[in-house]
Amino acid sequence: MEFNGDVYSCDHFVFPEYKLGNIYQKTLVEMMYGKEQEAFGAMKHNSLPQQCLNCPYEFACHGECPKNRFVLSEDGEPGLNYLCKGYYQFFDHVAPYMDFMKKEYLAERAPANVMEWARERRDK
Ligand code: SF4
Repeated sequence: MEFNGDVYSCDHFVFPEYKLGNIYQKTLVEMMYGKEQEAFGAMKHNSLPQQCLNCPYEFACHGECPKNRFVLSEDGEPGLNYLCKGYYQFFDHVAPYMDFMKKEYLAERAPANVMEWARERRDK
């Protein structure tokens, strides 16, 4: 929300085409659940390059913020996030630990058991 009560889809998209309304004319709830905001949310997925759609970590990353999607994908498609390499490395690194915690949780054990598991992995 801006100083004058104008509300936008996102703080990184304060442009006329992303204006949802003004707090003096509409409630925040109306703007949040309006068609414009729904379209903004759908755009975040619909504009992903194929590299993201094929990525095993798309479910967690979602291509990150659209404002950062300005580099070419591996096959030359525009719209890849310039932070992709770092995100991919991060998700790849944490995946086994997250999987372990999920397994523990589903077995009704403490996900914090991951600490001991991580130490054992490190010391092998
Ligand atoms: S890690 Fe990279 S390829 Fe995977 S979803 Fe995120 S931005 Fe796309």
